[in-house]
Amino acid sequence: MNDLINNTLNIISKISRSKCGYLLQVSQARVNILTIWGESVESFQSLNSYLHEKYISGGITRETVEQSNTFKKLKDELMFNSFFIEEVQSFKERNESIYILLFSENHSQFSEEYKDRITSVLTILSSQVKKWFEDKNRSGQTNEPVFLAQSMIDDNGLLSDWESIFKNLLDASPDFIFILNNSGNFILVNQSATNVLDYSLQELKGKHFTDIIETENNPRIFAAIDQTLKTNITTRFEVNLISKYERLIPFEINCRAIMKEDTILGLLGTGKNITSFKNIVDEIKRLKPQVIEANRIIQVERSRTRHQKSLIDELNRVKSEFVSNISHEFRTPLASIIGFSETINSDPDLPPEMKKEFNNVILNEGKRLAKLINDVLDMSKIEGGKITLINSTFDAHKMIANVIENQKEFADRKNITINFEHSPDQAIIEADREKLFQAFDSLINNSVKFTNENGRIKIIGNHLFRELEFIRTDTGIGIPEKDLPYIFQKFYRVSRPGTELPGTGVGLVFVKQVVDLHKGLITAQSELGSGTTFVLKLPKSSKIEKTEE
Ligand code: ADP
Repeated sequence: MNDLINNTLNIISKISRSKCGYLLQVSQARVNILTIWGESVESFQSLNSYLHEKYISGGITRETVEQSNTFKKLKDELMFNSFFIEEVQSFKERNESIYILLFSENHSQFSEEYKDRITSVLTILSSQVKKWFEDKNRSGQTNEPVFLAQSMIDDNGLLSDWESIFKNLLDASPDFIFILNNSGNFILVNQSATNVLDYSLQELKGKHFTDIIETENNPRIFAAIDQTLKTNITTRFEVNLISKYERLIPFEINCRAIMKEDTILGLLGTGKNITSFKNIVDEIKRLKPQVIEANRIIQVERSRTRHQKSLIDELNRVKSEFVSNISHEFRTPLASIIGFSETINSDPDLPPEMKKEFNNVILNEGKRLAKLINDVLDMSKIEGGKITLINSTFDAHKMIANVIENQKEFADRKNITINFEHSPDQAIIEADREKLFQAFDSLINNSVKFTNENGRIKIIGNHLFRELEFIRTDTGIGIPEKDLPYIFQKFYRVSRPGTELPGTGVGLVFVKQVVDLHKGLITAQSELGSGTTFVLKLPKSSKIEKTEE
């Protein structure tokens, strides 16, 4: 097409805001895209065949085109929403017409208002197209090769023997280039065909195209070739070619009809060996499950990292809560110690009995402070792996009786009874007595702390096959179900708004660590408002006789 026509089409594409369009030449014999913008020629193969059929069978109208399935399918594929078709020029003598087709994403792009603006430019286009065809016919333009530097022929005769140069050009191509006559027989093939298909040039010439294609491909290939001959546009298809020694080689073929006026003389085509492309596709297919698997692992790792991050965040939160709790726990006894000491110091006339009472308070608060510091130190020692068990063999029942004795005064203050039931048999165990004492002391102290006045605490000692079992129940305030899984975690404290009791959230951590060090097991069950049960199992000693106590 000449520059004038291209300029006019450019203006039409701008004022119609179309995303693509083309000029179509349709006659009884063929359909041919003259120029196209915004899309490839191949995209409109099926639509052009349909338009050709309509043209032959009575005429193209926008309405019939829009209702056809071919058009609807194309609309989905190319994602346009409105469409325009108009006959630009008709050559009655040749029974040939030129149509313009426009495609836009906008739903109402070709409404009456816009159509008027387009139509005015179409009048110009129409006369330009008419003139172009007239000029073309006058000069008898054909599709002969275009020599970019015509003067070269005259200058040194380089292209004077252009037929042999053209043959060399064909042979230099790595692609399979061929021409079929109108019966489908090879009349020209280039050198690379013989390299790939193992046939000599003589063997190939005269063979029918279907002789070298896999039979199961025939119907599909015939349809593609038929389409090529009807529409006079380049058709692309994939086919397995059969070599002389029956190797199947995948090829991508592009072919086009050779026409003289309205007569089909033959078909020319190029074939690209796509073996390596197919191999890559197969390799990609093979690797796909591995890629999916790798992606899955990445997802898992990502969510694990997220989980770890949220654990770290939670730990940091709990740690800062601990720092503020422990400061509070330190400050309370310290305030009493300092307050009472100052009173004793500042008042020399303080009656001796009051002085004694104040000294007792100072002593008890000092002990509480020392216990607190010990708890925290013990826990960090165990955590740092710095603690070793100093084992001895003893009767665990007796040790528990001592713990109860230790907590009796605290329990009596709240009128809480502590019962210990166990069989008369000794419960011999080989363990670190001091640490186990501390652990049971902490468990029973918690029971007293979290049980209201007049409550009951019961400890049961059972002999299992290889273990000693201790069940400690109380009638205390219980632990909410949501908190139960976390009570053995460092610094974890059940939040009880309004009834906050002193504590640091390390007591149960220490208990669990001691039990673990002894290869035992501890579990907790609880019901809010009814009480809490801890079950503790420790391995029995193989020794029968106690050596301590
Ligand atoms: P704390 O020093 O805060 O008591 P612990 O590690 O000993 O820390 O206990 C952790 C949490 O478990 C406490 O905050 C407490 O609310 C809960 N708890 C432990 N024992 C009992 C019990 N016998 N009854 C009710 N709650 C308990």
